Amino acid sequence: MRKKIVAGNWKMNNDLNQTISLIEELKKNHFNEVSVMIAPSSPFSKIAADLLENSPIEVIAQNIHQKSNGAYTGEVSCDMLKSIGILTTLIGHSERRAYFNEDDFVLLEKVKFAIDSGMNIIFCFGEQLKDRKSNKHFDIVKSQLENTVLKLNSESWKNIILAYEPVWAIGTGETASPEQAQEMHEFVRSCISKSYGDIISDEISILYGGSVKPSNAIEIFSKKDVDGGLIGGASLNAFDFSEIIKANK
Ligand code: PEP
Repeated sequence: MRKKIVAGNWKMNNDLNQTISLIEELKKNHFNEVSVMIAPSSPFSKIAADLLENSPIEVIAQNIHQKSNGAYTGEVSCDMLKSIGILTTLIGHSERRAYFNEDDFVLLEKVKFAIDSGMNIIFCFGEQLKDRKSNKHFDIVKSQLENTVLKLNSESWKNIILAYEPVWAIGTGETASPEQAQEMHEFVRSCISKSYGDIISDEISILYGGSVKPSNAIEIFSKKDVDGGLIGGASLNAFDFSEIIKANK
């Protein structure tokens, strides 16, 4: 059975008080059938983990560095995160690719390092608007996956969650239609199946991300290959985020 997951990426938002009050609001809910994750900004990872110690909501990281430690000013290592109980990280978010020059080569290093360190990853990928307009979205996604996660051994796949995030839909208010999400998720599953077989491709959770809101979540999550969502803007509002989680039935 594939896991249903909704993860909130808070990006560089929320100070300490806002982080605490958003977590306290979320804790009032009981999300029974869905795995819920939140990725606060790194200074607040530990307090978030403490506040959620006895809660099923998992605190995850937004990013990791691909080295174990050393002179990498401003970076956060897998060991640091593990030492505060954080075992899952996003990798490959389009903002990391666009603003921090993280290309497939670096992302493969990060993916391998995180998995070798015993962490789970939510690997993000997706095409830009120009790719979709020129009908290259399947080719782009295929190459993003072939250059990274499809290079891993089959054992690694138990640590992987995928998140299809068309760049043109992130933070723009424009969402992929449920049909566009479904056809890409189905395509991604077929790529995994070709490399690793049906058991792994059937088990892998593939999330959709890109302007998911309470008003469109039910329709998107109802598609058979969409196992949940990676939510940016709407995850900053406790009510909206909770409604999105509840939509993932
Ligand atoms: C994201 O940044 O991963 C994202 C999906 O953002 P938003 O929901 O705001 O489009």
